[in-house]
Amino acid sequence: MRITVEHDRCIGSGACVFTQPAVFTQDEEDGRVVLLQDVPDTHDLASVERAVLLCPVSAIFLERGKRR
Ligand code: SF4
Repeated sequence: MRITVEHDRCIGSGACVFTQPAVFTQDEEDGRVVLLQDVPDTHDLASVERAVLLCPVSAIFLERGKRR
């Protein structure tokens, strides 16, 4: 599973960072999402999926079928 984010859509709410801080952080200048890792660890999958659902502007995407 691979994560992608659409920076132009992000409004910097921080919901993804609060939900999974090992995978998401926010840019110090504009507050928009920054990916720390695009392929999540297996034990982070559930919280990454939760972050996708919680993002208020649907700026996080999961590409399924690619496991490491
Ligand atoms: S939850 Fe969505 S809008 Fe909020 S910081 Fe993350 S990607 Fe951006």
